[in-house]
Formats: sequence, C-alpha cells, structure tokens
Amino acid sequence: MTVKESIKKNPDGIIARAYAFAEKSHKGQSRKNGEAYFNHALAAANNVASWNLDDESVAAALLHDVVEDTDVTLEKLKREFGEEIAFLVDGVTKIGKIRYRGIENQVENLRKMLLALSEDIRVIIIKLGDRLHNMKTLSSVPREKQRRIALETMEIYSPIAYRLGMQHLSGELEDLAFPYIYPQEYTWLKKEVKDAYEKRAKYLERVKKALLQELQKNKLHPLFIDFRAKRYASLYKKLLRYDMDINKIYDLVALRVIMENVSECYAALGIVHNLWPPVPGRIKDYIAMPKPNGYRSLHTTIICLDEVITEIQIKTKEMHEEAENGIAAHWLYEQTKGTGKNMQKRSISPDKKELQWVEQLRNWQKEFSNPEEFLDSLKIDFFRDRIFVITPRGEVRDLPVGATPIDFAYQIHSDVGNSCSGAKVNGKIVTLDHQLQSGNVVEIITQKNKKPSSSWLNFVKTAGARNKIKSALKGSDSLAAPTKLARIEFKITAEDKLGLLKDVTTIISRAHVNIVSVNTGGQGASKFHVLKILCDGINKDKAEKLAIKLKSVKEIKELSYKFI
Ligand code: MN
Repeated sequence: MTVKESIKKNPDGIIARAYAFAEKSHKGQSRKNGEAYFNHALAAANNVASWNLDDESVAAALLHDVVEDTDVTLEKLKREFGEEIAFLVDGVTKIGKIRYRGIENQVENLRKMLLALSEDIRVIIIKLGDRLHNMKTLSSVPREKQRRIALETMEIYSPIAYRLGMQHLSGELEDLAFPYIYPQEYTWLKKEVKDAYEKRAKYLERVKKALLQELQKNKLHPLFIDFRAKRYASLYKKLLRYDMDINKIYDLVALRVIMENVSECYAALGIVHNLWPPVPGRIKDYIAMPKPNGYRSLHTTIICLDEVITEIQIKTKEMHEEAENGIAAHWLYEQTKGTGKNMQKRSISPDKKELQWVEQLRNWQKEFSNPEEFLDSLKIDFFRDRIFVITPRGEVRDLPVGATPIDFAYQIHSDVGNSCSGAKVNGKIVTLDHQLQSGNVVEIITQKNKKPSSSWLNFVKTAGARNKIKSALKGSDSLAAPTKLARIEFKITAEDKLGLLKDVTTIISRAHVNIVSVNTGGQGASKFHVLKILCDGINKDKAEKLAIKLKSVKEIKELSYKFI
C-alpha cells in the first residue's frame, strides 16, 4: 500500500498526520534539482511502505529529515507522535552522520556500526528507503559528492540490504551506484551487452513457451514464468572473473519459474532436466540449503534449445517475495499468518564468520511467534558487548563496551598508547578514563617521551592495552635502573622518632640501592610508624645485608621485605 492509499484508508491515522506534519515542516525547502524537499520524504516513505513495514516506520520515513533539516526538535516530535516514532527518526538522523571515507578493511566494521547505532532493524530499513531515493536522484548532486555517496551505497548500504535478505534492493542500489563509480566500464558494458540482452530475451521467450507446454502436460501449473536480465553491476563483477567474455555468462538473462509450493518446485526441476540435460555441477539446491542471507531457490544450468547454455531458477512465490523484501517480508509473513510454520523449517548454515550477526538476527527471529514479540526482537542488541568508534581519518574501531581512550590508543598502535597524554571525543577534551560510546569520533593527543601511567591499569578494558602498559612500565624501569635487578619493598615498623626517615633512607642510599618511593603510614595516636619503601636495583643478597644494617637502627622493631 502506498502512502496515499494508507491515508485514504485511514485519514486520521498516524501516516496521515505524519504526512501533514512533514509537508508543513519542509515547506519552502527544495532539493538541488529544484524539487520540493517533501517529495524526497514522501518517496522514502513509499519505499518503506512497499517493503510492508508497519505504520510507525512509514510515518517515521515521512518525518526522517524533519529534525535534521528543519527547526522541529526531537522533543516536539516526541510530543506530537510519541516515543516510538521519535526514536526511529532519531536513529535515522544518527546513522546519517556516519560517513564512509573509502578506507579499505573498514567496511565490515562500518556496516556493523550502522546496525549497532540503529538499535532497531526498522531504523536501518528506513535509512535504506531514504538512500534508495537519494541514489535515484544522485545526478542532481554536485559531482564531487556523487562518487562518495555512490561508493558508500555500493560498499555499505547494498551489502546491508543483501544481508537483511533484501536482494532486490541490494541489486538495485548497486546498479544505481555503478555508473558513478565505474563510468567508463558502465559505458562499455551498456554497449557490449545491449545486443546480447535483446538476443537472449527473444531466445528465452521461446524457451518459456516450450517449458510451459511441458509443465502443463505434466499437470504442473506455474504461477508465472518470467526472465530478468542480470544487473550491470553484478554482471561486471562476474565478467571480471570470466575474461570479460560475455559468452561465458550463462545467467546473463535467467528464466524464473514460480511454483505453488516446494514439492512442485522439485517436480518442475525434474521436468526441466528431462527436457534438457543439466550441466554437471551446476545444480544448486538453495531450498534445502539456503544461502547465509536466507535466499532460497533451485538453480540449474541446462543445455537448452539450440544447445544454448541457460540458467533456470525455480522457487515458490513466498521465496520470491522474500528475496525481494527480505526481513521485511518475513515480518509481514509473521504478522499475517501468525505462527509462520514454513519459516521454522529454515536451516541456515553459518559457514562464514562475518555473516554471524545476520545468523543471530534470523535465529532469533525464529524464536518469536507473535508480532509483538517479534517487534521487540527487531531491537538490535546483539552488539551490546561491542562499541564502534571512529578515528579522525574515518576508520572504524571495534572495542568492548566500557572501553576508554587508552584502549583506543593502544588499539591504534602501542606507540600511540605509550605516548598518550590526552584525548578528544567529538572534538571535546575528555579524561583518559572516559567511557567511549558507539559513533564517537576519538582523537588521541600524544606527547613525545611520555610514559604510560600504572594508574591506567585501573580502568583499561582491553587485555591488549593492559599487556602493553605493563610491558612499557617494565621497559622504562630497566632503562632507569643501572642493572637489571629486582624491585623490593621493605616494610618497616618503627618507633616514632624525629629524623627516623632520614636515617633509614641514608642507609639505603649508601648501599647503592635506588629508592623508588617511600610510603609513611600515618598512625595517628600510635607511637609506631609503618614505612613502606620501594627499592630498585637490588638482589636477594644485597637485600639481606641491607636488612641487617637497617635492623641495627634502634627504633626499628620489625622489618620484612618482599620482591615485587
Ligand atoms: Mn533523507
């Protein structure tokens, strides 16, 4: 249902109210192409609506730029539309501030950070609706911004859509980004592929006829058969692996057969193979073994009419819709059919570590049988142990919750950690034990010849930082001490006497032992003092002799020492 249709159906509903509010708030604003700004919000909301999200999400999509681009505050939104919608809008605003700066090896973390910051899967889906419309209107954006946005779409948003099972959207985003990132390749491909596409489409029209006849003869009635050309972006990637030879791409245009149920899918596969021989090793049963993102279908490559190698995909309507809408489709399914028992059969093999988080998401979706519970389950809390922070250069660092600037500094490099003298978070100075939050931009201030402080050990969170601090502390001691001797602490209990401390330290100095620190325990009314003297550059022998000398001091009643 489109936004307009929803409003017609329920003129006083939340969508109608959000529409009126957003239209009024954006009044007078226009986008770079001269179009009214509100049209963008409406287009984003229509995208969200087309993925069958709930009314709150559609309303939030209508309002998604209101806080960022008009003087409406989040508080006002909360008052007008309640916590939930305000939360969704705030989430979209927050993740909109994250920028991909083209740093390799950071994309996976950046994707995770986006999800962690979203907190609710609906936030990221609204963001995808926003991004889809921005990509469609990218040509009116200044050229220097185009590439950055296209790259971000290709590297971050398209893969997120894919992992959420929204294959169609993922492919669409990639295709929209492709010409901006590879303009020359795009021109070449379009020219190269045009004839091939047309020829294939004509050919598949014949295949479709022959196949339909044969299926019907066997009392199988597909819901529909169609074919869709492979998208430019994925074709280009594939061509790179196939010597740029378009004749080696068998799924340039693939035939899709949509059947009523799973057993009919397998029956249809049998008929296809009976009609045309399959190419060995090219039969893929993603129904029995879905792809990690949940994609299900039967794929086979056959030697078809006129000996042309052709790919055929067979799936149910439900699988087809799921491939289009992913998690959103699943959600709708849960909402409309209650238990969704077909979904329970799903088994997803977690073969790739990097896909674990989608695994978690899906597994945990399965545990819920009613829509309210499922809605709760959309909260992204599987990153609750991790935070994602950004370096001033835009790199993303993954740290445990509670991590401090010191942890961050040591993760960058031990030298940065060792010479850390201060830190800034989002441009403001913070203390070194400050707890970092996801999305923070963290900058470390270093100072030459600075040494780590042992007090850091009290608040660092990562084992890495802890170990590096300890080894740096040890390292600096051995530099300070003339020999690689041990460290000893003398504990002296002595009667109070003027000049006692001076007598004790003089004896120690004469023995050529360094005093690192002296700790005098104030004993208040007691006539005894407890001194703790930390010494360097000493071995057991020396310590023994020194102890004897110290005991000769009349006031010292008790003396012990231990190696530290
Ligand atoms: Mn927007």
